[in-house]
Amino acid sequence: MDSTHGTCVDDNGSRCFLYTLVIRSNITGKGCPVGWMLTNSETHYPIVSWLQWVRDTVMFSPTQVMIDNSDTEIKALRIVFGENTAILICHWHILRAWKKHVIKKVNPVSRAIRPDTVRAKRGEALDILISMMSAQTEDDFDSGYHDLSEFCVRNSSWDCASLLSYFDSEYLSKKQEWSSAWRQNHSSLNTNAYVESWHRTLKETYLANIRSQRVDGLVYILHEIIALDFMSHDTDVRANLRRRVMNKAEKERQQRALDLSDFDADMMLVAHNVGSITVSSFTNGDLEYIVNFDEQHNSLQSCTCPDYSRNAPIICKHMFLVHRVERISLPYSSQLSAPNVNTALPQMPMNEVQRPDPEGLYMEAVERYVI
Ligand SMILES: [Zn+2]
Repeated sequence: MDSTHGTCVDDNGSRCFLYTLVIRSNITGKGCPVGWMLTNSETHYPIVSWLQWVRDTVMFSPTQVMIDNSDTEIKALRIVFGENTAILICHWHILRAWKKHVIKKVNPVSRAIRPDTVRAKRGEALDILISMMSAQTEDDFDSGYHDLSEFCVRNSSWDCASLLSYFDSEYLSKKQEWSSAWRQNHSSLNTNAYVESWHRTLKETYLANIRSQRVDGLVYILHEIIALDFMSHDTDVRANLRRRVMNKAEKERQQRALDLSDFDADMMLVAHNVGSITVSSFTNGDLEYIVNFDEQHNSLQSCTCPDYSRNAPIICKHMFLVHRVERISLPYSSQLSAPNVNTALPQMPMNEVQRPDPEGLYMEAVERYVI
């Protein structure tokens, strides 16, 4: 969920915010807007009304919601969905804010310090912050926080105490919403790239040549043009006119299944039953999982492994393996095939801006910091 401005103005010429709920469609594999709300208020009240309406009207009850670092949105989500919905803050936006503040708040006391030394010191601070973001356990997080506290006070030749107070006031109380130590049971997605991509598509494709910024004009475009475009994309994939898109998480799991030799791949399938196949664990020979499929439609349905339980609808490697060996269709679309089998049909031209890979964005932000 995210908002954007610059799409329309109210009767007084004041700017409005367009909020959008974007989901990853099981059918197309791509981000898809499923709900909009327009407001000229920056408070949480309209967000609460909108989410309550969505919750009560279409029984929308997400297990997790990715947002930018917005206290207003966190407040609204907590009021409507309580503690049952996990709130995840986009890592890319946090990293961007951290880079900016580290530059402002980590400075040498003396002007004689060389610029490359200053850059290295700032890089050190950012590394500590990133270690808390990617912490695998709560202990790892606490250790990172200890390092940050030490970093900010231990050396009298550096002025960086304000970095610690910034972190304490802006991030510490929300650590469960952004540190991986508390995100283990949620989808591997760490950024809200789907909604960022939607905003770009809206502004660069649909609104690029529209001069009017009237509210009714925007509502018309959303309802009469954009909603129909997304629905027709869905229909095209169901009709095999376009292919379902795999995200990075699915491509990695598929690769694990493809990396096995033909012999090993066959041996991993240890029992065939009606509507299910038992598959050995890739990492622990003592464990087995059940991949269920629909015999009538020759289509995979689910797997009992922890990865699928946690990340469904992302397809797990056991399902990719059964698909490879037994040629049972992957779930959601008959067009999603192993790359070594040429089942490609001519693709319809797609009039949309290419979406950046969310994990790629995250890694780029981590690797490219130059302070
Ligand atoms: Zn599995």
